[in-house]
Amino acid sequence: MTVRVRFAPSPTGHLHVGNVRTALFNWLYARKQDGTVILRIEDTDLERSTIESEQMIFQDMEWLGLDWDEGPDKGGEFGPYRQSERQEIYAAHAQQLLDEGKAYYCFCTPEELEAERVKAAAENRPPKYNRKCLSLTEAEVNEKLASGIPASIRFKTPDNETVFWYDIVKGKTEIPTDVIGDQIIVRASGVPRYNFAVVIDDHLMEISHIVRGDDHVPNTPLQLLIFRAFGWEEPKFAHLSMIVGEDHARLSKRHGATSVNQFREQGYLHEAFINYLALLGWSPGEGEEKLQVDKLIEKFSLKKVNSSPAVFDVKKLNWLNAGYIHELDDEKLANLLIPVLQDGGFLPGELTKSIKTWMIQYASAVKTNLVTINDVLNEFKLLTEFEPSAIESGSEEYTIITEEGVGKLIGQLQDEIGEIPPVDKDKYREMMGSLMSKAERKGKKLFHPIRIAVTGRLSGMELDFLIPLLETGSKLDLPVKILPLDERLNRIRKHFFK
Ligand code: GLU
Repeated sequence: MTVRVRFAPSPTGHLHVGNVRTALFNWLYARKQDGTVILRIEDTDLERSTIESEQMIFQDMEWLGLDWDEGPDKGGEFGPYRQSERQEIYAAHAQQLLDEGKAYYCFCTPEELEAERVKAAAENRPPKYNRKCLSLTEAEVNEKLASGIPASIRFKTPDNETVFWYDIVKGKTEIPTDVIGDQIIVRASGVPRYNFAVVIDDHLMEISHIVRGDDHVPNTPLQLLIFRAFGWEEPKFAHLSMIVGEDHARLSKRHGATSVNQFREQGYLHEAFINYLALLGWSPGEGEEKLQVDKLIEKFSLKKVNSSPAVFDVKKLNWLNAGYIHELDDEKLANLLIPVLQDGGFLPGELTKSIKTWMIQYASAVKTNLVTINDVLNEFKLLTEFEPSAIESGSEEYTIITEEGVGKLIGQLQDEIGEIPPVDKDKYREMMGSLMSKAERKGKKLFHPIRIAVTGRLSGMELDFLIPLLETGSKLDLPVKILPLDERLNRIRKHFFK
């Protein structure tokens, strides 16, 4: 079977976690089956749809590496791929249903319909159209149309039937037609409703599998009835469960970032984000969680998608992101860190060769301390912020730096720096070796006071990375200066040992 799937966003803003997970599952399925991915823009809601949003969707998809084979920008045999450009197609199909007596014109005014709804609510009935216009004669209909009375088109839903389908995710799903009623498929303005346009498109675009959020389950029976009314083959359906926050409420802004661009701006890597999204409702099994996209494709199966709600777990996303950052090549990581540090005012707009080289060393050193790329803004302060007076008395740092003999140790360290400037790891080791024998200290007794003396803090990256970075970084022309080692030690001495 030729697999053709579609991702059909409405262009009303950036992609959200829910619809991007839908896009991903469509994409993984199609790529696994050597199928075709269609990007269709569902812009029949003319007031809310914008071309800027369409661009944002393209950008979000591109950032994630989710490509498509047919779409408004790519073309294809089954276009146009924007619903707003398919009006004539919908009109012709609506006419066909009218001609076959499977749909009918409705001239009821919004006020009449509203009054009906209120009445139904008062009588505890479901708000279903009362079929007033179904009984109009052909002559009456023609007369009303000729006199220009606004007319919508309603689909004639068969009574007392049950529509069911075998959902790949949810299993057999059934809904009685009585709850559906005769719904409007084309508005009086001539604009088709979603439930109609989607069926025409899915058929004409030869979609084999509809993979979408389970908020569309209530729409599926009407769509199936429309497929059947035309005598068209029905696609297969896979409805993905919703994504909830840790409190099990539907994921919303309240839970933090929810749109793809927010995650990108917060410094998540697309590899990690894709990997994480794939785990929302699906599992590769055998306790595996960290998988690159080619492995995801290899292992993906729609049949194994879980039908219960998927909990969005930021901790797991963070864990994956840290893992992917850790594996990045130093230069690649540096290239991701540089723009963030430039925006933060820590690096100049134009980088000299020596700054670039230094940044690669820095990337290598900071790698294991980052959960997101943006964490570098905080980590970098270890190099640029240094204030001995901020070491509060009573703190562990204070206790260590004021211990007996530390003043002397700092003097000895300064002598060593004079002789062996620690510009790289080897020089650093040489210097520390020499200091160790002169100061007769080792382990924590040596490293803790030194760490505090050069950074003011007890935590941070390994000293064998940090100390050379401070020494070489201080020689660079940066907007926020990195204090050289010697200057730091002078300040510490002045503050604590004068
Ligand atoms: N445009 C619809 C949405 O944004 C998608 C409809 C569908 O997948 O059938 O939810």
